[in-house]
Amino acid sequence: MIDEIHKKLVCKYTAIITFILIAVFCLCSYLNLQIILNAIDKALFDYLDEEVQEAEENFNKNSAVNQEVTINISPSLTLLSFWFKADKLVYAELPEQDNIRSQMLRIVEETNIPSDTIYKRTINNSLYFRFISRDIMVGNKKIGKVIVVYHATNLHNNFNRFLMIFFGVIVILIILSYFISAYLADKAVKQIEKMFERQKKFVSDASHELRTPLSVIMAYTELLEQKSPSPEILQNIKDEINTMSDLTGKLLQFARFDNNRIKIEKQVFNLSNLGKEVCHNFSQTAQGKNIKVVFNSVEEININADKLLIKQLLYILLDNAVKYSPQNSEVKCDINKDENKIYIKISDNGIGIAKEEQEQIFERFFRSDKARSRNNEGLGLGLSMALMIAEQHQGDIKVESELGKGSTFTVILPC
Ligand code: ADP
Repeated sequence: MIDEIHKKLVCKYTAIITFILIAVFCLCSYLNLQIILNAIDKALFDYLDEEVQEAEENFNKNSAVNQEVTINISPSLTLLSFWFKADKLVYAELPEQDNIRSQMLRIVEETNIPSDTIYKRTINNSLYFRFISRDIMVGNKKIGKVIVVYHATNLHNNFNRFLMIFFGVIVILIILSYFISAYLADKAVKQIEKMFERQKKFVSDASHELRTPLSVIMAYTELLEQKSPSPEILQNIKDEINTMSDLTGKLLQFARFDNNRIKIEKQVFNLSNLGKEVCHNFSQTAQGKNIKVVFNSVEEININADKLLIKQLLYILLDNAVKYSPQNSEVKCDINKDENKIYIKISDNGIGIAKEEQEQIFERFFRSDKARSRNNEGLGLGLSMALMIAEQHQGDIKVESELGKGSTFTVILPC
């Protein structure tokens, strides 16, 4: 299945890159051609203006150009001009090559080239010309015409060469795009594979966690078949059902977060007050272990966030701090802020977390020491839920900890 996704991604990426490259090729070629043609046509029109003026002066003087054709062999070959007096050719600029000369004369004498409009003509499929003509008028009477020609063969050949090279470059880029696509698909697939693995592990861990209380309930039910119900057995069954209901509730919340189905309902509230209230509640539960919960906030801090989720986050971190702290110790909760961020710091002098495990503790179902965590009745879901809540608020959680000395969890939230 992953291979199939990889293949599909490579095809998709290559097709997209190829399409973009071909579009760029067509657009660049078209724009380049238009720029060249515009420059040629401007040169043609300018030359036509000059030649019409000169021809008019000549015809008015009625001088040199009358009976004989004046032929000027143009060495430059690019711009040529032909004058007609009445319908008779009286002046011609011609290229040096004989074969072109005769063909050109035939075209200007036999073709009705439209006035002030570009007329294109190809000779022998290899010579390219652009013509333009204009009548010379005296009052309403036409006394002659001028035709100018742009010999565009060299430009045409150069443009073809440019197209060939450009096309070659595009083909090389398309081949290269295949390898780039394979690389990008590889990266994307690795990400998908990781997610797949995480999802598989999550499902297997969740089923394992659900199976444990179910087996315990089954064992107690079997016991009930043999013995009459005692308050102790019933309490144990209730405890396991509570564990299951807690776990399924958490799994449901994860699923909702994963599917983006939890709506964050933001409101501005006093975070310092909320922190004080949660710490106060914890002081009661921590009394069993004689742990002092100390709250500290230098100023009143307001935040725009989902109050219930932030409360849940505080509960998770404080619960862990109390859970993993020894008797007669202290847990601190400090709330501070700077220009753009709010910092909630929860620190304890508890068992601490090994360096190599500090990244993993945010993974679902991870417990640093399964036996120890089981004693503490943890599910390994608290921190991943806390991180998810922080991330839903564009925040983060950092941990600093030393084994045996204690831990500090810092929640960073935007103001
Ligand atoms: P749990 O329900 O097991 O506490 P969490 O996701 O909240 O699950 O925590 C994951 C693991 O991280 C815990 O099992 C514990 O080993 C470690 N941990 C979390 N908070 C602390 C803490 N304050 N001190 C020491 N270890 C902690």
